[in-house]
Amino acid sequence: MKVVLKNLTKKFPGAGRNKNDSVIAVNNFNFEIPDGKLVGLLGPSGCGKSTALNMICGLLKPTEGKIFFGDEDVTNTEPEDRGVGMVFQNYALYPHLNVRQNILFPLQNFKGKDKLSKEEMLKRTDEAARLVQIESLMDRKPSELSGGQQQRVAIARALVKRPKVLLLDEPLSNLDARLRLQTREKIRNIQTATGITTIFVTHDQEEAMSICDVIVVMNHGIIQQIGKPQEVYDNPLNLFVAKFLGTPPVNVFKGKIRNGSLYIGEANVLGGISMPDRDVYIGIRPEGFLADKDGPLECSLERIQIMGRDVTVVASHKEAVDTVRAVMASDNDLLGEKSDKYIRFSIKPKKVYLFDRKSEERLKF
Ligand code: ADP
Ligand code: MG
Repeated sequence: MKVVLKNLTKKFPGAGRNKNDSVIAVNNFNFEIPDGKLVGLLGPSGCGKSTALNMICGLLKPTEGKIFFGDEDVTNTEPEDRGVGMVFQNYALYPHLNVRQNILFPLQNFKGKDKLSKEEMLKRTDEAARLVQIESLMDRKPSELSGGQQQRVAIARALVKRPKVLLLDEPLSNLDARLRLQTREKIRNIQTATGITTIFVTHDQEEAMSICDVIVVMNHGIIQQIGKPQEVYDNPLNLFVAKFLGTPPVNVFKGKIRNGSLYIGEANVLGGISMPDRDVYIGIRPEGFLADKDGPLECSLERIQIMGRDVTVVASHKEAVDTVRAVMASDNDLLGEKSDKYIRFSIKPKKVYLFDRKSEERLKF
């Protein structure tokens, strides 16, 4: 089932005396979620992700705009009539019911022609449990399950209704790091196996990048960029998106263009820039630095962190907006001595972005 959002907007009135301090939590969203895809809504806390999701599932009424499931306008349809399954951050299982009863619960609300026989309900419950691989724990109470298992029960409970659209609001936030990794793979597998159109909300860029077909990057209720994760990473449209995707984050320098070359301070770090002289922000991905004793960019070396496969060089530069972090393979023998005070880099042109200092929009060169 494809989902289409048209001019979708939600304003919340101001909480205080001042009516003008209303919040536009979701500002004029326009996009189409293709049938059968896993789409991530990604952005920092407070950017409007939950508000958008709650409008799609029907718990919140939009201030303006429309929501379509396929060709059907569902903007005014009640949540229970939309055919959506929803999973929240806190699993919200019924503590006094066992796993089987928890998963089966929503099926008891099917009325009229949709009413199911007890047998059919149990069959569907087993099927949903198998999908999330929880079938051996059916007689346990939620308190006898780990966080990851509880979240899988919550997902099964959403799947048992065979929803047309599955909505997941930060479903992994309460899990520890390893379980988060496993459960996100599981979600991807379940989504692929069922082919249910799924919207996955997260503030964690790595989570979104690793499992989503498409990501929608948001900030302050406004869509910043939509695309395949790698495309957005490689081609951010503005400084916010460039900074939000990637760990360590992109390194930002104050720079300038002079006579077709890019400068950081006095260092000419890149030539062949076809742009008139101007000031810019320069974003360099951590993997865009090469340790090179003849390289143009000299930074003060703070420390070298070796972590398994990779080495992170932590350095500083007076034109850098923040600490400089360069990541390279740990067998890079050009790194020099750890006791060195300075390190020199050359820069990979493909890992460099330029931004307008004011608008922070990307400048193509
Ligand atoms: P996210 O899920 O991305 O963290 P939310 O959608 O929960 O963000 O919130 C977006 C913005 O809307 C925030 O500024 C939040 O304070 C505000 N907001 C959310 N719900 C309400 C509400 N019921 N009343 C007033 N403001 C709200
Ligand atoms: Mg939220």
